[in-house]
Amino acid sequence: MSEIFCSIVAPCWNEEETLPELYRRIAEVMEQLGECWELVLINDGSTDNTSQMMQQLHESDPRVHYVEFARNFGHQIAVTAGMDFAQGQVVILIDADLQDPPELILQMIDKWREGYHVVYAIRSERKGESWFKLFTAQLFYRLIYRITDVNIPLDTGDFRLMDRQVVDQMKGMKEHHRFIRGLTSWVGFKQTGVEYVREERFAGETKYPLRKMVRLAITAITGFSIFPLQLATFVGFATAIVSAIFIIFVIIARLSGYQAFEGQATTLVMVLFLGSIQLISLGIIGEYLGRIYDEVRGRPLYVVNKAVGFEAQPVHSDI
Ligand code: UDP
Ligand code: MG
Repeated sequence: MSEIFCSIVAPCWNEEETLPELYRRIAEVMEQLGECWELVLINDGSTDNTSQMMQQLHESDPRVHYVEFARNFGHQIAVTAGMDFAQGQVVILIDADLQDPPELILQMIDKWREGYHVVYAIRSERKGESWFKLFTAQLFYRLIYRITDVNIPLDTGDFRLMDRQVVDQMKGMKEHHRFIRGLTSWVGFKQTGVEYVREERFAGETKYPLRKMVRLAITAITGFSIFPLQLATFVGFATAIVSAIFIIFVIIARLSGYQAFEGQATTLVMVLFLGSIQLISLGIIGEYLGRIYDEVRGRPLYVVNKAVGFEAQPVHSDI
């Protein structure tokens, strides 16, 4: 077993401006802890000077280890690689942009010492984010909470501490469409939360535009629920009942000589309505099918260009 007590994993995609400050803040916090630690940086195919920055940090402090991907694989995959390479007894996931204050790590470790296996950070307030992002995030967390089978805590991001036992379980989960928050909840063990105020980005722009947020939301829903697939059945039953009532109504109207619902417009509306419901249902099936296809191809989750500073190469079940 490695000597390292705590691994801090930060995925980075074009974060040259934030990296030195991230290192400084983390080092400051970890000095207070007085335990052996490592900072695991994942370069998710950055096109700026993030790579050189990581090299410099590693040279000035060998506790900084880093992994370089061959291209951009996305945030959730970068975090996964970080967990694969991390060597510590506890692993902490943190964003590189300092929106998650490293100072909270001490509180998380206190909770771990009390016997919790997962300590997630709950955002009590989010600074510097548009009302649209806040609103959609609120909606997203509540929707996921309602329709999925696992209890994913409300208003938590990926900022969290995990015990080695949990990390080892997560390494066995090979799915390509990953929603780390959901997977940690799924694993179980003793979990608790600590609250914090989410700060503004230290520098640079968000790497999560609306398009990516929607994709992550779909990953979360399809990864933890088959509710959308069942929706077609519910809607089918509902329209069948409405149609039956309608048919009876039309027959009675006709028999009593009332000229109801004549003409093409009614037919057209009905055909279009049912046609679109069928297309939406097909789309939902297609979404699941595409994801099954991605899984069965069995490609590796990521491709590593180089890994610097690690004692041993990780054993991820499918890399
Ligand atoms: N990130 C990444 N790969 C990506 C997108 C983002 O490694 O494809 C990293 C990014 O560098 C940051 C973290 O994931 O450290 C969270 O991204 P960001 O802060 O842009 O998201 P937001 O906080 O705006 O949701
Ligand atoms: Mg951020």
